[in-house]
Amino acid sequence: MLLLVDLDGVVYRGSTPVPGMAALLERRVAAGDTVIYVTNNSRWHRDEYHARLMGMGVPARADHIVTAARATALVLADGEARPLTMVFGGPGLARELRDAGLRTVAPTDRGLAAEPGAVVVGVDFSLSYARLSTAAEAVRRGARFIATNRDPVYPAAEGLRAGAGAMVAALAVAAGREPDMVVGKPEPRLFRAAAESVGEAAEHAIVIGDSLVTDIAAARAVGARSVLMLTGVTTRAGAQAAPPDAGPTAIAADAAELGSLLEELARA
Ligand SMILES: [Mg+2]
Repeated sequence: MLLLVDLDGVVYRGSTPVPGMAALLERRVAAGDTVIYVTNNSRWHRDEYHARLMGMGVPARADHIVTAARATALVLADGEARPLTMVFGGPGLARELRDAGLRTVAPTDRGLAAEPGAVVVGVDFSLSYARLSTAAEAVRRGARFIATNRDPVYPAAEGLRAGAGAMVAALAVAAGREPDMVVGKPEPRLFRAAAESVGEAAEHAIVIGDSLVTDIAAARAVGARSVLMLTGVTTRAGAQAAPPDAGPTAIAADAAELGSLLEELARA
């Protein structure tokens, strides 16, 4: 089976591993499943996630980690004309784009110094008035406006922090238009890119995630089955309150319940 596994809220919560998940994922890989880790996060390169997962004892290959940054790179590199790409985001995003063969430029503090064909937006810890103005000018001059994701916030140890969606919103207002493409969940492109990276179709995957509005919505968008984990942002009451057309295939409270469900699905 192809498992598309969300990270935060499923494999770990912040820096704490979710109990039993590392052992379960190891058993699934030993049983022949392909496990691809998928995250909307666009800040880090997959090598950084790989080191983090290995540090938690989670079996992973770096090429089986598809972040919204890497999926964006794969989508852009797949086109006939690979655009010069302005990176309104962090160094991990720029590195993923370059790994896929794209040339990148930064939105300089001194105005538009290049004519990028695309502006890619991720969470930008160097966000500044000048960088925002330069990226907006590139979009107004016709660059494709690509969002890695539209998450308004993300959870950090110190509380909620502004997510890539906040930067996308700022750029949309300054440039006078909405993004041409959003790659991350709940849109279907992240899961499609993740499945295609191992030569599979996303509709055959089983999505394992903790969010109804991103993971389960994206699973439905690609026609995949899904398991909603209660180890992250969703409570059992929240899961049960989901309308029938927005719910998961199954709900698992923890790694043990997920393990039984996956064994059933493998036998089916
Ligand atoms: Mg999650």
